[in-house]
Amino acid sequence: MEKFETIVGMEQILEHLKNAIRLGKVSHAYIFNGEEKSGKKTIAKNFAATLQCEDRGEEPCGVCKSCHQIMNGNHPDIIWVTHEKPNSIGVDDIRTQVVNDISLKPFQGPNKIYIISEADKMTPQAQNALLKTIEEPPEYAILLLLTENEESLLPTIISRCVTLNMKPVSNEVIKTYLMENYHIPDYRAEVCVAFAQGNVGKAIMLATAENFEHIKNETLHLVKNIPQLEVYEVVDTIKQIVDFKLNVNDYLDIMMVWYRDVLMFKATNDVNNLIFKDEINSIIKQANKSSYRGIEIIIQAIEKAKERIKANVNFDLIIELLLMTIKENGK
Ligand SMILES: [Zn+2]
Repeated sequence: MEKFETIVGMEQILEHLKNAIRLGKVSHAYIFNGEEKSGKKTIAKNFAATLQCEDRGEEPCGVCKSCHQIMNGNHPDIIWVTHEKPNSIGVDDIRTQVVNDISLKPFQGPNKIYIISEADKMTPQAQNALLKTIEEPPEYAILLLLTENEESLLPTIISRCVTLNMKPVSNEVIKTYLMENYHIPDYRAEVCVAFAQGNVGKAIMLATAENFEHIKNETLHLVKNIPQLEVYEVVDTIKQIVDFKLNVNDYLDIMMVWYRDVLMFKATNDVNNLIFKDEINSIIKQANKSSYRGIEIIIQAIEKAKERIKANVNFDLIIELLLMTIKENGK
């Protein structure tokens, strides 16, 4: 039988939503706030399914007609708002799909649920158009706004929604989940967990990546050889990452795990604490070469590079700066 995706480690949010259902106090508008792959869509879908389920429980039953429709993505009363332009949700998108549609009663379910992914992409005009709807929604209507950055929503919108923040999930919970559900060995699960930093979606992505070993080896080859490499070689290597369906930040995250290992080994001299245990020789070498301060500077530089990539600063320049820092502080 088909099933809804399991939700891992989001007890607080789930508890909040279940309580609201139990007490009959479901709000008309929610903001699910959290980084990419942190589970916003999974939770929104599950919550919507619960609200529409014929069973009227605190979880979707998974067998009724409504649940089936949701799993197949064709429930008439759950509207995933789409947008024409890739990088913005315009006032017309909101008017046609939400504002003008919301007064039509639900087709079959008790509720009509609008899910706006990437809600931070709504233009101010779009948000203002939505505002009236959020202020006085029909009894049956519920809006779910998913966003990576709540701050880019208008305060007037935020103040009328219940915000639920996606929290990082503990490493132990993610590791157990990966091993039980994806049947990967202990060692690989640890790498995925370290890489994901509390983000279940990212951990699953790496755990299920067909070319996991290849990605890992490429990245480690890169960090180990940075002192000898020219900027253009590194830029080229990193750009190839697109082929692996990961993004550049994922690459940088794997690099970071390696440098954290170096720092950890320098501090403890203990192989057991390491994520890349099988890389022990190169880790010892780097730990002997670099100072604590040097490695910390490199780790900070990787963080900074990730932020700059998000802010769309010139890619080659970001990598060049990062490399210079690594070369200077890693020797
Ligand atoms: Zn059901």
